[in-house]
Amino acid sequence: MKHVNSEPPARVGTAPSAAHRAVVEERGSFCFATCSCGWFAPGRRSRDRARRDVGEHLAEHPAGPPEPG
Ligand SMILES: [Zn+2]
Repeated sequence: MKHVNSEPPARVGTAPSAAHRAVVEERGSFCFATCSCGWFAPGRRSRDRARRDVGEHLAEHPAGPPEPG
């Protein structure tokens, strides 16, 4: 019986060059906080609340060093 040693892929937590660009999208009377990383917050009736979600997300996942240019 051949044993297959499958090593897990090397992960450093976040994908490389995957900046967190969270924005607030308005859908009708609701606001959704979404991020380029795929994260999103539930719809909020208040834009301020959605913006708060953005801030909390960026606080949990701080962006890397600023890209030159
Ligand atoms: Zn993100």
